[in-house]
Amino acid sequence: MPQQFGDFTASELYCPKCKRSQPVREKLLLVLPRGELYEFLCSQCATSLGEREITGPALAARSAPLPRARKPRGLLRG
Ligand SMILES: [Zn+2]
Repeated sequence: MPQQFGDFTASELYCPKCKRSQPVREKLLLVLPRGELYEFLCSQCATSLGEREITGPALAARSAPLPRARKPRGLLRG
């Protein structure tokens, strides 16, 4: 029996090599400026089943448009 961990965060994905859905393992692939790119590997044959980009909680907030600096009007007259 392979060693089992109970904290799989990802669900199962269909593995074309195993010809059945298998639990996947996340592997950190890249660290991006806006998050991290994970690769899903079949836990049985380590075939790459897909990628997923995960953004940090701090980056999850949608970037609001920058407030435009408004020049005071009406006070200065040329
Ligand atoms: Zn597989």
